[in-house]
Amino acid sequence: MDLSSIAYPKLEDIQSALFIQPHPDDNEIGAGGTMAYLSHQGIPVYGLTVTEGRGGSKTIEPEELGKIRKIEAQNAMDVLGVVNLGCLGYHDNRPIIHETLVKELVRIIREVKPQAIFTVDPQLPDEMHPVHIQVGRAVQEAYMRCGQIYYPFEDHAKHADAFSPDIIGFYFTADDNTILDISDWMDLKCEAILKHKTQVDRQTLESFKAFYALVADGTDYQYAERLKLLSSVHTHCFAIPTAMKALLKK
Ligand SMILES: [Zn+2]
Repeated sequence: MDLSSIAYPKLEDIQSALFIQPHPDDNEIGAGGTMAYLSHQGIPVYGLTVTEGRGGSKTIEPEELGKIRKIEAQNAMDVLGVVNLGCLGYHDNRPIIHETLVKELVRIIREVKPQAIFTVDPQLPDEMHPVHIQVGRAVQEAYMRCGQIYYPFEDHAKHADAFSPDIIGFYFTADDNTILDISDWMDLKCEAILKHKTQVDRQTLESFKAFYALVADGTDYQYAERLKLLSSVHTHCFAIPTAMKALLKK
């Protein structure tokens, strides 16, 4: 049977990508190697942050921390060759309203028109951080909505800029279908992570390195990132039996 029409997308086919992170350091920690790999293919790679991450310190006042983390995010994206689209400015005083965030994401996706969008997997079984779950879900809905010409529906108008990315990818996932060898990109990933000075010290970085070495277990790689890459054929209705998933990696 020819399964090519339902095969999982491949990283090497991506021509532009937008990485949407809940907090200013998630993209680098979860997918810094993937971002470095893609940007070094010479394709446009964009980063977007949803919250300012004001709650990330016991010693720095929230407002001050929000400002510092914006600079840290810029510095980290500079290391990886990622274009920073900025921060949507959500924080503890501005709770995430699902519909509002979806609309903001749709507007940006239609403007940037990335071939692939990436975010955290909201279905990660033990994920308990509400912002990760909320952002992952909002990006999933935005992926579905951005190609619908009448969305947002309350406008009662056609949106000529309606656009659907071909691919949605997830990092921080337990349901991966793609492994990327990031051994050559690990130094850059670590350099980018360390730009988040208020969040990550050398000791924490060592635990990340141990984790990404563990992720490479079963491969010949020293370090790896695991991703779930889906196209529209995988994101509505049909479930692929677990035992069959390997057949869809063309
Ligand atoms: Zn986070």
